[in-house]
Amino acid sequence: MAGVNAISIVVLNDVAMDTARRIQEHFPGSNVHGLACRVNADIAYEDFGAHLRELYAANTPIVALCSAGIVIRALASSLDDKRAEPPVLAVAQDASAVVPLLGGTRGVNVIARDIGAALGIAPAITTSGELRFGQCLLAPPEGYALADIEHGKRFVSDLLAGETMRIEGRAPWLDDAVLPRADDASRVVRITPRVAGDGLVIHPRCVIAWVDHADVDVTECLRVALREHELSPLALAAIVAPFGEMTSNALAKAARAFDVPLRFCESMLFTETYVGQGTALHLADAPVDPDSIGQARGTLTVIGLGPGCAELMTPAAKSALADAQDILGYETYVRMASPFRSDQRAHMTDNCEELQRARHAFELASEGHRVVVVSSGDPGVFAMASAVFEALDDGYAAHPEWRTVKFAIVPGVSAPLATAACAGAPLGHDFCVLSLSDNLKPWDVIEKRIAHACEADLAMAFYNPLSKARPSQFDRAMEIVRRYRVPHTPVVLGRDIGRPGETLRVVTLGELHGGLVDMRTMVIVGSSTTRAVGDWLYTPRWYK
Ligand code: SAH
Repeated sequence: MAGVNAISIVVLNDVAMDTARRIQEHFPGSNVHGLACRVNADIAYEDFGAHLRELYAANTPIVALCSAGIVIRALASSLDDKRAEPPVLAVAQDASAVVPLLGGTRGVNVIARDIGAALGIAPAITTSGELRFGQCLLAPPEGYALADIEHGKRFVSDLLAGETMRIEGRAPWLDDAVLPRADDASRVVRITPRVAGDGLVIHPRCVIAWVDHADVDVTECLRVALREHELSPLALAAIVAPFGEMTSNALAKAARAFDVPLRFCESMLFTETYVGQGTALHLADAPVDPDSIGQARGTLTVIGLGPGCAELMTPAAKSALADAQDILGYETYVRMASPFRSDQRAHMTDNCEELQRARHAFELASEGHRVVVVSSGDPGVFAMASAVFEALDDGYAAHPEWRTVKFAIVPGVSAPLATAACAGAPLGHDFCVLSLSDNLKPWDVIEKRIAHACEADLAMAFYNPLSKARPSQFDRAMEIVRRYRVPHTPVVLGRDIGRPGETLRVVTLGELHGGLVDMRTMVIVGSSTTRAVGDWLYTPRWYK
C-alpha cells in the first residue's frame, strides 16, 4: 500500500521547523509531527517517547530532529519488537548532520543519502558493506525480496573479507555498484523466483497466482503448487481471482498468509503457466506491480473521530484514516480528520447530504477503493453508520456490487461520554440518550420519549438541543422535564468539548433555558440521585 508508511518527521521545537520543512519537500506525503505545547506542525503529539514508539510499532519511517541519544533512549524498549524495524534517522536541528540509526534492510541509508543531498551534507553512513560497495546489498528495491537475511549478512562479510562475486539473473539496481566482480567468483548473487540454497538469494516478485475457485484451502493449494515448482513464496506478487470470489474468506486468509495483495479480474491470459488444483501460477520475467492487475476488494469503514481532539480518537480510527484512499464526510469533520497525504482524497459535503454521501462511498468502495466515512463522536449514534446501512438497504437489489464491499464500523467517544467525563460521572447509573431534532422523527414522539425517560428516572443526554429552525423546542422539552424533576436537579452543558474554545457549565434545571444552548452543546440532565461533591457531579451506582 503505497504511501501508508510515508515518512514521519518529528520535531520538538520551533528551531527545527525550518529543517523539517526542507526535508518534507523531498518526501511527498510526509508529515511533520510537533510537540503540541511548543510547535505548530501538521500533526500534534503530547509525549515524545510514546509518540515515537507508536510510530515505530506502526512500521512508520521516522526522521527525528534531535540528538541520536534521545531517539535511542526513546526507542530502546521497542527494539525487541521483531515485527517492526522501520528506518529511523536522527537529523541535527540546524541541518548539519544526518545519522541513520535503524532499519538497515529497509533502506535507511537510502533515506539518509536523500536527506543528505537535500540538505547539502554527507550522511553519516556506518554500514561497512555499504561504504565499500556504495550499495546495501541486503536492501533490494521494491518488487524484490531478500530470501534470508542471515545468509545475506554472511555473504557481505565474505565480500568484505576479500571474496569475489558474480550475479546470476537480472539486478539492474546493482549495475553501478562498485562490487568485487569476477566471472569465476565462488560467491553468487542469485536473482530468481526459485528456491536456491547458497549465496545471496533475491527473489523478484514475479509470480502471480490465479485462483479459479476458492472453495478449497487456497493457502495449502498454493503452498503445494509453489513447492512443486520450486518457487519461493517470497516471489509471489499477488493472488488474483475472478470477481465472483471477492467475499471468499479462504482467499483473504491466503493473501494474509503469503502477505501479498489480493486482486480481482474477469480472467487472465498467461504465457508460461503451471496449473495446479484450482490454481495456476504464472511467471512474469520481471517483478509485477499488483496494482496493475484488475482491482482490489474495496473497503468501507465508518469511523468515529471522538469529540474533536486527537487524544480522544481511538488508535483504530487513526489507523483506518492512515489506510484510507478516500475520506468522505461533513466538511467540519473531514477537516477534523486531516491532514491527509497527497495520495489521499477528501470529499467534503454538506451536513444534510448523508444518503448521497453514503451512496458515493459505496460507489468508490465497489471500484476497489479503501474508503473511510467520518462522523464526530461515535458513528453509530445519530450519525453516518446508520445512513450507510440505509443506503445499502435501499440499493441492495439494484447494486449487487455494493454487497461485496468489506465493511467495518469503528466506534468513537460519543459527546455525552466526553462531556460527562469533564463534569465527573453524571452518567454513572442508568441513563438514556435522546436527540431533540425533529428532522427525522415527529415532535410528539420526542415529547413522549422525554416523559417516559423522566418517569423512569434516567439521567438524560440530549443531542441536537436547538437550532435556528426550531428556537423554542428546547424550552418545550425542558417544560416536560420540569414536571418530573425538582428545580435543583443538576444539568451539565458541554459546548465544543474537546475542540478549541471548549466550555463546560453546570446549572440547575430551574436556571436552564434555551438561551444557554445551541447545536454545539451537549445537555446532560441528572436523575433524582445525581449530586455534587466539591466541584464534581456524579450519579451514584446504588439506587434506593
Ligand atoms: N455522532 C455524534 C453525535 C452527532 S449529533 C456523537 O456520537 O457524539 C450532533 C450533536 O452532538 C450536537 O448537536 C451536540 O449536541 C452533540 N455534540 C457532538 N460533538 C460535541 C462536542 N464536541 N461537544 C458538545 N456536544 C457535541
